[in-house]
Amino acid sequence: MINATRHLLGDSRTYLRIFYLLLAFPLGVIYFVVIVAGLSSGLGLAIVIVGFPILILTLICWLFFARIERELAIHLLGVNVRPMALLDLTRLTPWQRLLKALRDPVTWKSLAYVLIEFPFGIFSFTLVVVLLSLSVSFALSPIVYIALNGLSRQFPSSFPSQSSGDFPGPLLGPVVTINGHIDLAVVIAFVVISAIGVVMTVASLALLNGTGLLWGRFAEMMLGVDESRLHLADAIAEAEVQRARADRADQGRRELIVSASHELRTPVASISAHVESLLKPGRDMDEETRKYLTVVAAETDRLGSLVDDVLALARAEADELHLDIRPVEVSALLDQVCEALAPLARRERNLSLVHSSVPGMANAMADRDRLGQVLTNLIRNAVNHTPDGGIVSVDATQFGDRVLITVSDTGIGIEPADVERIFDRFYRTDTSRARATGGSGLGLAIVRDLLTAMGGSIAAESTPGQGSVFRVSLARETA
Ligand code: ADP
Repeated sequence: MINATRHLLGDSRTYLRIFYLLLAFPLGVIYFVVIVAGLSSGLGLAIVIVGFPILILTLICWLFFARIERELAIHLLGVNVRPMALLDLTRLTPWQRLLKALRDPVTWKSLAYVLIEFPFGIFSFTLVVVLLSLSVSFALSPIVYIALNGLSRQFPSSFPSQSSGDFPGPLLGPVVTINGHIDLAVVIAFVVISAIGVVMTVASLALLNGTGLLWGRFAEMMLGVDESRLHLADAIAEAEVQRARADRADQGRRELIVSASHELRTPVASISAHVESLLKPGRDMDEETRKYLTVVAAETDRLGSLVDDVLALARAEADELHLDIRPVEVSALLDQVCEALAPLARRERNLSLVHSSVPGMANAMADRDRLGQVLTNLIRNAVNHTPDGGIVSVDATQFGDRVLITVSDTGIGIEPADVERIFDRFYRTDTSRARATGGSGLGLAIVRDLLTAMGGSIAAESTPGQGSVFRVSLARETA
């Protein structure tokens, strides 16, 4: 109890809070007058164009008052008010900023706070004045009394009631009796009154301090963003940091893959060239060695195309494709690709590779070489998965603002569960694995990445046992 009293009296914050309680009255009056005058003149003149600037000016003053109050609450009331707005790095025009502020609940809460400050100011001012003057006057009443009686002895004419009688009035008035003894009862009465006054002063200080603290808590609630929003903002900022870190790590990984696969190409090409020269006809070697070398050659080719595929994917991911997108005449490209692949289709599977395009159709917006690579990949897949005697057809048409190219076959088809996954990296269906087509499962992933980079898309449909259809969609050239 004694400690608490000592702490209360010794803490400068107590007096700062009481100072705030006194200050709240003039401030509340100023806020109220400015806001009411601004709103009434602004609304009254709203039909005339000057009304709006007055309203906006009033609003700005209002928000400014709220900011002053926030500072006062922090520095005088000693509360920890959260910021009024969350950090936002987006560039906004003043008008956008005003609209954003109007949509923010903190704005309305702080405006309400500023208005409530007016009645609160009257209340707090009255409370401070009444409590302190009462308790202090109780505490000081003996001193005042003694002083007055002392004065009455020195200036009897001004205090006739105190100085009547034949003898001059005692120095300490009624405290000292006529024969010069101190009246104990009167002294005790003074001490009791004084003690009551001191207790009342301490209690008043405690009450006023508590009122200031309560008002400070109210300011915390009204003048700052909600705690949950602050936590959310912190979480978003943390997520941003983590995302940036993950992006950097991802970028590092992509760069590593690009450089590693780039470096791998040279030794793989060298092995391939050396094995090829070893296998040249006329070289003297036994059958078994030739058999092993043939396997080495085939696997080196496979490794070479795997490295190429990984490099292509890594480049697509790292946006290093350097696409040259321009209008591409699709029918001419189909002629070229199909002409190059027709012998293979005939030789390997005895397949017919047919193609068609709508006469006079629009050009597609694409990188010609990459689109050729996409079509080659799709046609090769179709050839690989179509039994002898089947048909692979490639058709181009135009639909709205898109150019559509369809590669269909009459092959083994794809199970429905696999259709969704064939564009995933390294995904190969069980049938493909069983048939040992030599693929790595990267072809369609590359196709999709290339098309996406060109602003296009791809979708697949298939009926097991009947065949598959791959539809490529690209933007058409605009006139
Ligand atoms: P791969 O290099 O193994 O061919 P892709 O990514 O090109 O890899 O194809 C993924 C899988 O999709 C293949 O393993 C194959 O099972 C299946 N697939 C692709 N095209 C066809 C098709 N035209 N008909 C049947 N299955 C296909």
